[in-house]
Amino acid sequence: MKTEPDDLKSRFKRLFRSMDFVSKHPALEQSGPEGRRMGDIYQQLGELWEFLALQCRHGEGWRKTREGRTVCKICGTVRNVEERWILLPHDKRKSIGRRVTPNSKKTFPNKKQASIVEDSIRFHGAKVKVDVHNAYRSKLLGDRALDIAIAAERLVDVEEDGVECSFSESQICLQLKKEKQGERPPSGAFVFELPKSVLKKLPLLIELDENDELVAVGIFRARNETKNE
Ligand SMILES: [Zn+2]
Repeated sequence: MKTEPDDLKSRFKRLFRSMDFVSKHPALEQSGPEGRRMGDIYQQLGELWEFLALQCRHGEGWRKTREGRTVCKICGTVRNVEERWILLPHDKRKSIGRRVTPNSKKTFPNKKQASIVEDSIRFHGAKVKVDVHNAYRSKLLGDRALDIAIAAERLVDVEEDGVECSFSESQICLQLKKEKQGERPPSGAFVFELPKSVLKKLPLLIELDENDELVAVGIFRARNETKNE
C-alpha cells in the first residue's frame, strides 16, 4: 500500500479523532453490550494505529508528552521503544537491521547480557539465523558447573533443503547431513590426509587461482526431488 507523507499525517489526525471519540463515549461507563462494542472498536483502532505507524518515517521530529515521554509528532510512536512489527515493501529490496559485530572486550555473566542480536527469518522456504554476541560465561553440564568462557562471535546460519551453511569468524561449514541421536559423531580430516580411494568417491570440486589460493569449493549433489513446504 502506498501512502504519501501528507496523506499519512491526515490519516493519523482522523484516527486520533476517532480514538478520542470512542474513548470518551458514555457507553464505556456502563456495563452492557454497547460498552463492550465500544471497547472492541477502540482495540481495533489501536491495531490500525500500530499498522499505520509502521509506515511513518518520524520525519517531523519528536515532542515531549505530559508524562515526559518523547513521541513522534506525526504518529505518536514513543522514541527508542523497540517496535514489535517490521513493515517490508512487497516488490522492492527488503532489508532488516544492519551488520553488527561484537562490540565489547568484556566477558558477560550470561548469554542474555552478552547478546547483541539473535534473530531468524524464514524467507521463501530458506532459513536464516544471525547470532551476534560478546564473550560470556556458560555453565557446561548443567549445575555440576564447569564454568567456561564462550568467545565473542558473529554467527550466521543459512539452511536450505536440508543443507546448512554456517559462518563464524574462523570457519565456514557446510553440513549436508544432520547428526542423528545415538549415532557416532562424524570424524574430521584434512583433504591431504584422506586416502585416494576415499577422495575418488567425494563429489568435491576445489577451485584455485593462479597462486594456488582457494577460490571456491563445490559439492555435486545427487539430484533430489525439491520439496515444497
Ligand atoms: Zn512517526
